[in-house]
Amino acid sequence: MTKTAARSITILGATGSIGASALDVIARHRQRYRVFAVTAQSNVNDLADIAAKFDADVAVIGDPTLERSLRDALRARGAKTRAHAGRDALVAAAQAPECDTVLAAIVGSAGLEPTLAAAAAGKRLLLANKESIVCAGALLMAAVERGGGTLLPVDSEHNAIHQCLAGVSKSERDGARLILTASGGPFLKRDDLDGVTPDEACAHPKWVMGRKISVDSATLMNKGLEVIEASWLFGIPPDRIDIVIHPQSVIHSMVEFGDGSVLAQMGTPDMRTPLAYALAWPERIASGARRLDFANAGPLTFETPDRRQFRCLDYAYASLRRGGAASVVLNAANEIAVQAFLQERLRFTDIAPTIEQMLGSFDPPAPNDIDDVLMIDREARVRARELIVEKVP
Ligand code: NAD
Ligand code: MG
Repeated sequence: MTKTAARSITILGATGSIGASALDVIARHRQRYRVFAVTAQSNVNDLADIAAKFDADVAVIGDPTLERSLRDALRARGAKTRAHAGRDALVAAAQAPECDTVLAAIVGSAGLEPTLAAAAAGKRLLLANKESIVCAGALLMAAVERGGGTLLPVDSEHNAIHQCLAGVSKSERDGARLILTASGGPFLKRDDLDGVTPDEACAHPKWVMGRKISVDSATLMNKGLEVIEASWLFGIPPDRIDIVIHPQSVIHSMVEFGDGSVLAQMGTPDMRTPLAYALAWPERIASGARRLDFANAGPLTFETPDRRQFRCLDYAYASLRRGGAASVVLNAANEIAVQAFLQERLRFTDIAPTIEQMLGSFDPPAPNDIDDVLMIDREARVRARELIVEKVP
């Protein structure tokens, strides 16, 4: 045990895949971390279970109609947790003075407001919610700067790069090239993607994740979003961010320096490793992840992504280069298309064309503030939904 005072954490999206992995790490270090607040969108029972198990002070349910059910569920478990509901309560939990650390693990641009609030309040921000930095990279980085807190990436690639850049001077970093690894998803070796079902798309070969990010991994849009995320996090332009397919997911990403040295971060594919790193940085704590067994790891292979089959990569690079509102439009179109695919209203192969059409037809002025971003996000969602209805006879 260290002598540092216990950190007090708000977990936004506690019932999700990242939320569960974080709580697993926290449960291994109960003296070191206490849970202040936990949030979820609609899963009242899981949220109440978590709040009771971790003795949280506050639980917030995003859906405002479920406040009463949450209160009842907490009472039934004998928890002393206070129940709140709605967007304002999510933001309040993210900026509450009682917590010093916030894990942003809501899925989608729904996480934007609370994530920004945590940054502005100077929290140690553990960022999993990549959609918020894709939509509002400049605003989020400025909020972290102004708030005086620390931003630690949880996404495994960015966490790997953060580790590779430790102790590197600004000028060395400015000349570096980032190499993001991608597993390639479940369809790496499959030519015919007509008729792909949601369950097939979500059956990721290496990672167990929420359904939205699983579909993003299958289209490779996840890697596209990660290029945008990396550019904002590390201040590296798109032409110095490469993607390499590495199906074994042992190397989580790499940095190439001016002298030709390449640093890689490795480990078994388990999100508890980057979460433990972000929770304890600059220290290291046990994560529960299985150790890498080199002698039995098998060969590590690398290949170039097929950009003709996985069009989303080019759309992501293009919107990063275009700047302004383009990444907000890209992200909103993707969220709506993925949702329609998961609800079996859109074919897998129509996800990329929907995004392409949206980028070609909607080019709003650059956002100046969070209200602009939210407005563009809303408008892009409306337009993407219309486009999808037109496609489904
Ligand atoms: P998930 O679907 O398993 O969980 C999402 C969480 O967000 C749930 O707690 C849910 O209740 C909450 N939520 C959903 N919609 C909401 C809304 N409108 N308002 C408030 N809360 C809402 O997702 P996940 O796989 O845990 O991913 C979470 C985030 O982390 C995503 O942005 C994803 O891209 C990122 N991420 C995930 C992984 C992974 O391994 N799962 C890896 C890297 C990055
Ligand atoms: Mg990732």
